[in-house]
Amino acid sequence: MLHETPLRSVAAGVPGEGKRPHAARPFFFISDLHLSEDIPRTVAAFEHFIRVTAEQADSVFILGDLFEYWIGDDMLSEPFVARMAALMHTLAERGIALYLMHGNRDFLLGKRFMKAAGAIWLPDPFVITAFGARITLAHGDSLCTADHAYLRFRRFARCRAAQMLFLASPFRWRQALAKRMRSASQGNRARPVSPKYDVTSDGVAALFRQTGTTTIVHGHTHRPARHREPGGMRWVLPDWDLDHGEPRGGYLRIDADGLRAFPLD
Ligand code: MN
Repeated sequence: MLHETPLRSVAAGVPGEGKRPHAARPFFFISDLHLSEDIPRTVAAFEHFIRVTAEQADSVFILGDLFEYWIGDDMLSEPFVARMAALMHTLAERGIALYLMHGNRDFLLGKRFMKAAGAIWLPDPFVITAFGARITLAHGDSLCTADHAYLRFRRFARCRAAQMLFLASPFRWRQALAKRMRSASQGNRARPVSPKYDVTSDGVAALFRQTGTTTIVHGHTHRPARHREPGGMRWVLPDWDLDHGEPRGGYLRIDADGLRAFPLD
């Protein structure tokens, strides 16, 4: 299903929305920070991004996998999570809109978290109009159409009944399950190696067709790039990791000069 809504109406009701006279300010895009308490340098980089880098933004878009895992909004009772939500909420207080899309790891982020973070949830995919350009935003996992096992899991995990059942189970049980799933996917952390885990040209072409746009911005693959595709330009966001090996991270911004990639400052 394609979702497209004028952003201003999506943004209505955000704290601070009334005091945003900055139509010409840039939009910032990030994804795949995989935040957890275990990666303090990456967390510090996110804090700097929200407090300092984002100061000049009209809107910040987080296109999925902000958190390494999410087992329900009762995680807000964890001091680390509460601190991240409060940090993000400062954007709304400063008149900067925050939009949040689910990733494959944090697709259970719910209304309570959105409220605590002052964020507006965006469906995937979502088309925005920014500086005259229509841009399709997606996390990117649904474009990996060669990974049939994952797509099966995705269909199951996005099913409302399965989610209700999971969320109704005890916190400790959910925590243990998340831990097991994470240790099973260790070594996955850096970048997926097999082409099976990258987007496919079929998946990309279908999204261009479905949205009628000629620009796609997505994350998920941890292969930051700008690809010239038959259907248009496809920008891939970097993942962030400043705690293991060579630091990685960065963001895209769009202003009157178009889309550009920036390293973390
Ligand atoms: Mn992902």
